[in-house]
Amino acid sequence: MRFHLVVAAIAVTGFLAVPDGSTLQLVWQIACGWYAAAMIVAAVRHRRPELPATWWLVALGVAGNAGGILVEYLMTLRGEPDFPSWADIAYLSLYPAVAMALFLLIRRRTAHRDWSSLVDATTLTTGLGLLAWVFMVKPAASDPSIGLLGHIASVAYPVGDIVLLAMTVRLILSGSARNTTFRLLCAALIFFLAGDGMWAVINQMVWEPGPMAHKLLADVFLAGYLVFAAAAIHSDVRSLSRAVEPRPARISRPLLAALTVASLIGPALLVLQATRHQVTDALAIALGCAVLFLLVVVRMSQLITQLDLQTEKVRELAVTDELTGLPNRRAWNTELPRTIERVRRSGEPLTVAMIDIDHFKSFNDAYGHPAGDRLLKEAAAAWQDQLRAVDHLARYGGEEFVLMLPAAAAGQARDIIERMLRATPLGQTFSAGVAAWNGTETSDELIARADAALYRAKDAGRNRLVEADRQPPVGVG
Ligand code: GH3
Ligand code: MG
Ligand code: MG
Repeated sequence: MRFHLVVAAIAVTGFLAVPDGSTLQLVWQIACGWYAAAMIVAAVRHRRPELPATWWLVALGVAGNAGGILVEYLMTLRGEPDFPSWADIAYLSLYPAVAMALFLLIRRRTAHRDWSSLVDATTLTTGLGLLAWVFMVKPAASDPSIGLLGHIASVAYPVGDIVLLAMTVRLILSGSARNTTFRLLCAALIFFLAGDGMWAVINQMVWEPGPMAHKLLADVFLAGYLVFAAAAIHSDVRSLSRAVEPRPARISRPLLAALTVASLIGPALLVLQATRHQVTDALAIALGCAVLFLLVVVRMSQLITQLDLQTEKVRELAVTDELTGLPNRRAWNTELPRTIERVRRSGEPLTVAMIDIDHFKSFNDAYGHPAGDRLLKEAAAAWQDQLRAVDHLARYGGEEFVLMLPAAAAGQARDIIERMLRATPLGQTFSAGVAAWNGTETSDELIARADAALYRAKDAGRNRLVEADRQPPVGVG
């Protein structure tokens, strides 16, 4: 790696000293590209990365792209080359090769269905693609000076850039998993895309770059080649294709900013063309805006669905006791008044019981706290088995439980609780205070009566249930 970094630094800086337009310059460029391709091949053999096809394709693309310079040079020796020529095929070979490599890589890394990344990547690509369409693809397609093949070739470059851009964005959004090879690979792609982007801007400005600007631009591509090689050489290359954790669906601030900019490209283009009194791309812009709008809507609905799921989960957690999985005291406190309200209207009986495990402190002391936890869990499950679907058992706190038995007369309630007592695991017992709703009292009053009965059960020797005094309804008799 160190060797490669030294070579790369010399190659990139030294290139600036090479006279522009010289044969040495061409040799330098070709040498950089082929050296990078050779390093990638050597790295694949030495490091044996998972999914080696990715790197073979990258090497092929880089070698082909650099080979284009040689082909073009040879053709110039024989006279001015046509457009398009074999050189263009070599240059263009980078796009399908690298795009295929990225496709394989993305598919392997995102084993899960990461829809939000996909939507974000599509949004960014659509915005930038619209820009590329207006400034690059359309002018290329409508240039009357080139034939059909010329059109195809000149459209292929920006289209290749858009595809590569889409893949790069998708790769970056798929999550990085802190891998140096991943970062270098993204950097190399950005070098290429930035180089092509700068060329597109220069072509727009009808400005002929000076020798130094020309060299700097060519140097960006050389850096791209060499960074591809660095990515392959780094030892992280082995784990690059491992599946990454799905990215959370929420949108970070930088991503939000990027999505906003991408979504505003359409209107900005329209404003630009309108101020020039020449709206030439109304259809493309309208279509782009419509797609972007729909993507934003899809993303929004994804976020809302996720929010709903999370809210549901939080609600569930808030009313569930972690240890036993039973409803907790909070759930009980809303459930009991609701049930009282229901039975007030229906007239059916309602019995509640307060249950407290006997000598639980001694159990903990004898067998340890974790064993106590297990007992609570197993007791809750065993009791639940004795209950009907309408009954409601909750953990009130510590080793105290509460039970709601709707549509159960006193006798039936007693049967159920005695069954629970016998089902208590490890020979443990409990005491229970049982109170039938008297038709007028509040939930607090009902619980207070059950609690008083529980105290009496404890006083009377535990391992039993005691029925509460049936207080006369307030205001009656
Ligand atoms: P009594 O028969 O009078 O109810 O005696 P007791 O020992 O069951 O009652 P006490 O109120 O003296 O002690 C209750 C014990 O329950 C004390 C506390 O450490 C234990 N406890 C409360 N919550 C938990 C829990 O979540 N896990 C475990 N393992 N123990 C708990
Ligand atoms: Mg207690
Ligand atoms: Mg107890």
